[in-house]
Amino acid sequence: YPRNRDTNAFRSQYTIQGQLGKGHFATVYLATEKQSGLRYAVKKFEKRSGPGERSKVEGLQQEIAVLMAISHPNMLCLKDTFDESDGVYLVLELAPEGELFNWIVTKQKMTESETRKIFAQLFQGVKYMHERNIVHRDIKPENILLIDKELHVKLADFGLAKIIGEESFTSTLCGTPSYVAPEILEQSNRRRYTRAVDVWSLGVVLYICLCGFPPFSDELYSAENPYTLSQQIKMGRFDYPSPYWDAVGDPALDLIDRMLTVDSDKRITIDECLEHPWLTQQPMTLTDSTDGLTGALAGLDFTRRKPVRERTLLSSINDVRVGKVLNSQKPDQPAVKVWDKNQGTKKLAPQQRSKAKGGHFEQTLEQ
Ligand code: ATP
Repeated sequence: YPRNRDTNAFRSQYTIQGQLGKGHFATVYLATEKQSGLRYAVKKFEKRSGPGERSKVEGLQQEIAVLMAISHPNMLCLKDTFDESDGVYLVLELAPEGELFNWIVTKQKMTESETRKIFAQLFQGVKYMHERNIVHRDIKPENILLIDKELHVKLADFGLAKIIGEESFTSTLCGTPSYVAPEILEQSNRRRYTRAVDVWSLGVVLYICLCGFPPFSDELYSAENPYTLSQQIKMGRFDYPSPYWDAVGDPALDLIDRMLTVDSDKRITIDECLEHPWLTQQPMTLTDSTDGLTGALAGLDFTRRKPVRERTLLSSINDVRVGKVLNSQKPDQPAVKVWDKNQGTKKLAPQQRSKAKGGHFEQTLEQ
């Protein structure tokens, strides 16, 4: 696929200035186009031989095919591609403010207004993709990039994206453990899954944005909650523990409930997400603390479908907020970064592994 096959064509046109990020498959650099002075993000795939190389090349071809097929304000845009002796380079639009994940970590959680602004864009982007028979399959805060401080976002990393055919399902087991839909984990039943997997992952991200910790996590494992991450997801077992969810309005909880519906046939679609009152009934007040009241004030008929109950799921990590389920080499044992609220210090769980060491899994998740 790569367009420019001349050796050194990339370096003659661009200057690399530093590293922006590193993923499972590639390293992303900040680069300037010499002629225009414009800045881009360059994703470089090293050429190596050995195990895993074939799936990497297939992933790269898929990513280029998807990037070339899309053009939307909330999707990262591909400018050019180079195939050189030391690697394949994708020149991408730069997202100067980096990952949404870092924004959440810095702020601990986001307000409903901020989250609403981001999700209005994400839903539009995913709707556009789904209409073109593309399923992203790896939506997570690390793949949602911020363009500016006004919270304009773009969806990135189409390495696992799939253009689905007329059958409208895909059956490869893939994703990032905390964000995968239950039907992906039921692969042993040969259940097929569709666009609905992206809605599930977006639901997980929405949950994280509003409270700062994930709905499903192995860190929640305890005597009262003896379920692994995979079991929690398959059972759709999550909660809205107090006090973290007290100020969040019922429309948000209703939307999350509908997005995290285990039965993919009953799960809300991306079109329905765009029409959900959480997005369409904009709060009349400007302060976030009153956001949660606006549903009631506007006379909306929302009952809290999952009332704030005892903190069963979070009891094992009393007063510790789970910030991020990091990628780990053992996908069923994700590492978790935690913040101790009492000491205000960052602590890393012992099993934490570097993000670079792996995020995706293929065919390995424990059933
Ligand atoms: P993964 O292991 O998640 O699949 P990957 O190897 O496919 O990763 P990306 O997720 O595309 O690589 O990029 C890795 C990181 O580089 C991103 O999480 C982000 O921090 C940074 N990055 C990627 N593209 C851009 C961009 N256009 N602008 C700014 N930063 C970017």
